[in-house]
Amino acid sequence: MKVDYADRLKQLPPYLFEEIDKAKQKAIDEGRPIIDLGVGDPDTPTPDIVIKKLQEAVLDPSTHQYALNRGLSELRSEMAKWYKSRFDVDLDPDTEILPLLGSKEGIAHVPLAFINPGDEALVPNPGYPPYNSGVIFAGGKVNFMPLLKENSFLPDLDVIDPEVAGRCKLMHINYPNNPTGAVCDEAFYEKVVAFAKKYDIIVCSDVAYTEMGFDGYKPISFLEVNGAKDVGIEFHSLSKTFNMTGWRVAMAVGNAELLNGLAKVKANIDSGIFTAVQVASIEALKNAEAIKEKMNKIYTERRDVLVNGLREAGWDVPRPRATFYIWAPVLEGYDSTSMSKAILEKADIIATPGNGFGESGEGYVRMTLTVDKEKLSEAVDRLKKAFFS
Ligand SMILES: *Cc1c(COP(=O)(O)O)cnc(C)c1O
Repeated sequence: MKVDYADRLKQLPPYLFEEIDKAKQKAIDEGRPIIDLGVGDPDTPTPDIVIKKLQEAVLDPSTHQYALNRGLSELRSEMAKWYKSRFDVDLDPDTEILPLLGSKEGIAHVPLAFINPGDEALVPNPGYPPYNSGVIFAGGKVNFMPLLKENSFLPDLDVIDPEVAGRCKLMHINYPNNPTGAVCDEAFYEKVVAFAKKYDIIVCSDVAYTEMGFDGYKPISFLEVNGAKDVGIEFHSLSKTFNMTGWRVAMAVGNAELLNGLAKVKANIDSGIFTAVQVASIEALKNAEAIKEKMNKIYTERRDVLVNGLREAGWDVPRPRATFYIWAPVLEGYDSTSMSKAILEKADIIATPGNGFGESGEGYVRMTLTVDKEKLSEAVDRLKKAFFS
């Protein structure tokens, strides 16, 4: 049989991590002592109290059946409570909170509710891949908003052609940002609200990293600014905050009408989150502050080991105030791809080429703080030897 993939799959951007994936596999097969700074996945386990709660819940047969699409009301209430205490944002648990099977799922599906074939959307570049692919799958056209160093990696809304903006139905924003580690302030969100109102654009804010803030910095929610709930929804996730990436639990919150659209799509695709996972997630949210404090202490130490080490060596890398990503400009004579390759060949370290997140990521590599500080210190030594001696 001749297999012919649908056009939507052919329209996806080329997978630029292929080369580095292959080189990584080869290095592993050769038994080289790889330090993997490539993955954006917490290395420490899910907190014990959450695991214990899951163990308890899974023994209760009432958790074994199909879950409700909108999830347990206790979970939605806990999410509302958490949003209130953390961001001082009021959410109605029944209409303004929609649990998700991970925020990737919601981000990928939301365009199906609002984008007709030919409709356009605004997507940050570099950016988390599902912003782009979700719009493509809905038949939409993507206009990229470059995230540039001179704008502190915020999209410059003033340079978006008003005609293009007028054709756009939806936009994605993401702060604290993956892959750049950049953060934004209230003034930026206020600009986004004004822009969205002017052009009638649905705002999808992804705040997966708000709980990973360092040096006393507390990242904010888009919904904290006036008018945000009129124009948008926000995606939050238990994945990064609670070391629960494999559990698949997250939420979309905000504008009830917009959430209804996403809920309709989802009712036809999935059947909710495993109830035992929901019960355990309530426990995670109840203990958010303690869990977060412990994790952020670990990430702060790791960040300082890597950033201080590289800076001492002569590599001018930024010190992120949030996220576990170091967005490092490539060294002279390299581009993203050749820098990643050289780091692997000369130092047995995986760093992700920035152009894999979109062409505006060219000129950078992303390193992740998801290995312990001893390994990071070893990584610094190896990079020093390979590039600065
Ligand atoms: C990791 C990550 C998420 C979280 O994804 P889940 O599907 O909730 O695990 C969302 N957005 C960005 C930008 C991420 O890096």
